Amino acid sequence: MSERSRNGRILHADTRLVHEGILRSEFGETSEALFLTQGHVYASAEECEARFTGDSPGFLYARFSNPTVSMFEQRIASFEGAEAARATATGMAAVTAALMGLLQAGDHIVSARALFGSCRYVVAELLPRFGVASTLVDGTNLDAWREAVRPETKVFFLESPANPTLEVIDIQAVAQIAREVGAKLVVDNVFSTPVWQKPLELGADCVVYSATKHIDGQGRCLGGVVLGSEEFILTHIHTLLRQTGPSMSPFNAWVLLKSLETLPLRVERQTRTAAELADALAGHSRIRRLTYPGRADHPQADIIARQMKGGSTLIALEIEGGKAGAFRFLNALNLVRISNNLGDAKSLITHPATTTHQRFTPGERAEMGVREGLVRLSVGLEHPGDLIDDLVQALDRV
Ligand SMILES: *Cc1c(COP(=O)(O)O)cnc(C)c1O
Repeated sequence: MSERSRNGRILHADTRLVHEGILRSEFGETSEALFLTQGHVYASAEECEARFTGDSPGFLYARFSNPTVSMFEQRIASFEGAEAARATATGMAAVTAALMGLLQAGDHIVSARALFGSCRYVVAELLPRFGVASTLVDGTNLDAWREAVRPETKVFFLESPANPTLEVIDIQAVAQIAREVGAKLVVDNVFSTPVWQKPLELGADCVVYSATKHIDGQGRCLGGVVLGSEEFILTHIHTLLRQTGPSMSPFNAWVLLKSLETLPLRVERQTRTAAELADALAGHSRIRRLTYPGRADHPQADIIARQMKGGSTLIALEIEGGKAGAFRFLNALNLVRISNNLGDAKSLITHPATTTHQRFTPGERAEMGVREGLVRLSVGLEHPGDLIDDLVQALDRV
């Protein structure tokens, strides 16, 4: 199956999410098969040799590739509009591989400072241990990116919208600066999903996902993926992943592959509900600040209108009364569950300062915009009315 239908027309992205990448076996199964195998057998020693040299295409060993994992990779690459993808065991394996694949001792990375806690660990603590200097900047300030550049700057890294503040960065403008200084731009696109934002079209060199989030969307499997041009993946990612082994399990690939079929349906519905919730909650006396990409009062509403096709399934709320107020709010919820995950069919709420961003100092948290009263709401597939009822009764009890 290719991106074109039999009459040569390019298929729409939603169609490709259902049909692209199928490797149908001799049994002609309708649903994609789960190939739970570590390896493969060869008809002859010559055939085996040809597989290893690459002269004969095909599978070798599940650390390198697997038919079910390949189906997942082809399907997500097609939807993203990327030439190539490599699946990883987790989103963090994807982030780490993308950065380690691009950098070596003596290099420098500039990163937006509003980051998922583990991403910030990799940039600010892990990479420096291997001789890579890092500078964290306010990603919304384009001059800050320019001023941080050194002769040895090789990579720019950002999340947009960022976890958990939902701050938005002008990807096109940052990509332009990266090009001018000869750096590669890596974008963690988890929060917008490929449904609403295509960083490669905006000039990024590489996109990474935690497939654990909206791509699974039902809270089951961990997974990640690195996407880019064929040349980018072969030069920087392919060998690193094969030799170091953060491979996606075929079982997880099968779950995530089937989940891709419904990704736009779920994300569109969750976003519509989130927008309705944001409007219903804005102005509540117990909310000090509500940030929702998609509302006109978002600080970067103009950039969102340019670079995102839709809003977000997430809402950031700063509750009155700091940590105590946020805890009273969380503890008063009945339907929305307290959990640090996101993108799930079930609505989930997190207090980042004591969970995902707990290991940072209060100063670092303040710098990232993670205030003591901040909660991150991930909107699920429930009826909006039930969610509004639950959230409002809990806010009333703050
Ligand atoms: C969750 C998350 C990750 C890490 O993904 P895992 O699958 O948990 O390893 C990376 N970046 C962002 C923005 C995330 O939300």
